[in-house]
Amino acid sequence: MTSAKRIDGKAKAEQLAGSIAEQTATLKSEHGIQPGLAVVIIGEDPASQVYVRNKKRRAEACGFHSVQHSLSGQVSQEEVLGLIDELNTDSSIHGILVQLPLPDHLDEQTITQSIAPSKDVDGFHFVNIGKLTAGHTDDAFVPCTPAGCLLMIEDELGSDLSGLNAVIIGRSNIVGKPMASLLMQRNATVTITHSRTRDLPKVVSNADILVAAVGRPDMVKADWVKPGAVVIDVGINRVEKTIDGETQSRLTGDVDYDDVCTVARAITPVPGGVGPMTITMLMFNTLRSARMAAGLTG
Ligand code: NAP
Repeated sequence: MTSAKRIDGKAKAEQLAGSIAEQTATLKSEHGIQPGLAVVIIGEDPASQVYVRNKKRRAEACGFHSVQHSLSGQVSQEEVLGLIDELNTDSSIHGILVQLPLPDHLDEQTITQSIAPSKDVDGFHFVNIGKLTAGHTDDAFVPCTPAGCLLMIEDELGSDLSGLNAVIIGRSNIVGKPMASLLMQRNATVTITHSRTRDLPKVVSNADILVAAVGRPDMVKADWVKPGAVVIDVGINRVEKTIDGETQSRLTGDVDYDDVCTVARAITPVPGGVGPMTITMLMFNTLRSARMAAGLTG
């Protein structure tokens, strides 16, 4: 039985972060500019706290000026918008990120759209989404998760995906849709699937490149997957398993890794695949923003 290559997102992210740290040092010494990243976290969601801590750690390791604003879960929308206004005009800050999800009383769209497009390193502002969709990525910020996925796909298949079928499971604004734009720009023939897709396994079986971004543990099985496909598992699902009467919690993706390994050519693990690349692409976007603010090419 064959076994797919394990795509090591952690190692690739480390390598990329090393290059970002080097470029940051050069930007500082040659132009006196230190990239600045401000992260806004609202409330006490434990998963969000972990994500924000990891982002701060990574930003500091890259040599960035890193600022965290922790706001109470009861903060008003006006206070949040006021803080973003301040950060939008703060010249020491090149990237602003508001950690999602937000408490229910806050309007996610109003808040994400209040970030200046030139500091929207998450790539969620409609200006950046529009530029990506129109293929004008020279001065746009691409959402971090699909940007990281694309780098891993290019490592396996090269940058021209002409003639290859790509299937994406999931149509979210932060993963599925921008992933489709990126793959289309690389000449792949792209199909986006979702919860209303008929006969999903059949559609998926046509994929030379499969990106799963659903949020359903181990949903994709080997008999869905075309032999030799490159499989990118975006899903992060916490599952509990009871072994010998002891319940253990672990993370798993949307793809049944052990099963799909027997048919795929290459596959990302969870954890250790897409996740570390996502954080590093945030640093990549922040460095780009600082370079662009200094009048240098992104
Ligand atoms: P989302 O906004 O909840 O979107 C999920 C998508 O999956 C929707 O388009 C939904 O279809 C589709 N879907 C749900 N059930 C389905 C089914 N049975 N068959 C086919 N499609 C189905 O999720 P997201 O934000 O894109 O995130 C997806 C997963 O990726 C989650 O596990 C999330 O935690 C993870 N994630 C990981 C990273 C990372 O850095 N590794 C980053 C972002 C997200 P409808 O549109 O029809 O409802």
